[in-house]
Amino acid sequence: MITVERVNKHFGPHHVLRDVTTHFNAGEVTVIIGASGSGKSTLLRMLNRLETYDSGRIVVDGIEVNDDAKQLDKLRAEVGMVFQQFNLFPHLSVLENVTLAPRRVRKMKREEADAKAMELLDRVGLKAHAHKHPFALSGGQQQRVAIARSLAMQPRVMLFDEPTSALDPEMVKEVLDVMKQLAKSGMTMLVVTHEMGFAREVGDRILFVDKGCIAYDAPPAQFFDAQDNPRIRAFLGQIVH
Ligand code: ADP
Ligand code: MG
Repeated sequence: MITVERVNKHFGPHHVLRDVTTHFNAGEVTVIIGASGSGKSTLLRMLNRLETYDSGRIVVDGIEVNDDAKQLDKLRAEVGMVFQQFNLFPHLSVLENVTLAPRRVRKMKREEADAKAMELLDRVGLKAHAHKHPFALSGGQQQRVAIARSLAMQPRVMLFDEPTSALDPEMVKEVLDVMKQLAKSGMTMLVVTHEMGFAREVGDRILFVDKGCIAYDAPPAQFFDAQDNPRIRAFLGQIVH
């Protein structure tokens, strides 16, 4: 579903992604891990053109990722993204946050958008909060709204960039549970996270990014259990308690 071919990215003199080549299959959950600054966010952000690349090629579901405005609209409709910071609109209700893009971009009628949004809010366990404003919700609840908002555009791929890193520990599980459910429903997901329990349980595949390269690519069991790569051992030693 996604092809990344010999992609390079520099920020000034800093070579942030080095000749990255990989594929992501439909229906698979790929967990991307690696030290801070290794290029994980940059890789994710390039897939929906929040970031450009210097050379190489990226194709998402048949759409060439480039600056062509038509391609870009198609791409953004196919690829949903959830960030560490939820970025909900504070002046809009939960329901309005979820219906905004379908109404504005997809020109969906209010009744239809509302009905679809309520279904999604039910799915993330927040139907009862539809008419509240984001400030009235906990961080975990806000992140679940952000997931529902992204799903409202009916993406074919969902990108998650450290979706639980800004949350208090007791709220991490409720967000991971929603993501787990989404994975079970067959969504293609790329998830940058330090949650190794999630990676092991939900991931079909682990990508370990090291200094702008994919240093290891394997199913979780192999990744965690047969680990003889010293850099990965050092990385896991730092985050697994
Ligand atoms: P990760 O998500 O793995 O922590 P990033 O992809 O955010 O890493 O960043 C990779 C490297 O690129 C880091 O050294 C970071 O400082 C640098 N970088 C990221 N975004 C920018 C930017 N917009 N301008 C300059 N440097 C950047
Ligand atoms: Mg990052």
